[in-house]
Amino acid sequence: VSDDVTDVGAVLTDKIVKARKDHKCVECRKTINKGEMYRYEVIKNDDLNVFKTCADCNSVREHLVCFFYYGEIWWLIEENISEYGDQQPWSKIGRLTPVARERVCKIIEDSWRDDEKVIK
Ligand SMILES: [Zn+2]
Repeated sequence: VSDDVTDVGAVLTDKIVKARKDHKCVECRKTINKGEMYRYEVIKNDDLNVFKTCADCNSVREHLVCFFYYGEIWWLIEENISEYGDQQPWSKIGRLTPVARERVCKIIEDSWRDDEKVIK
């Protein structure tokens, strides 16, 4: 899913790097700790924008979403789950990092709980 030009602008840098200091993930807002691997991207549109995505969110991005806006991956996952219910790409979910998989499964479980409420 890597074009040279996306909707948001031209990709100048897109690589997996090791954190030399703490960063914040653009998707889940969690801290990317020093020493952890994360995805570092520089996108040029009107300005230069730097996006840092933790390994967990990056696995979700690579396996579960095709089109997205930065910072909206988890919102997108929740939308998909509430829309398609049981028709989830389970084999793809199996390829996520354990942390990401747990979070996706939690969202699915929560959606089931919401369904139960509707039935009652
Ligand atoms: Zn993250």
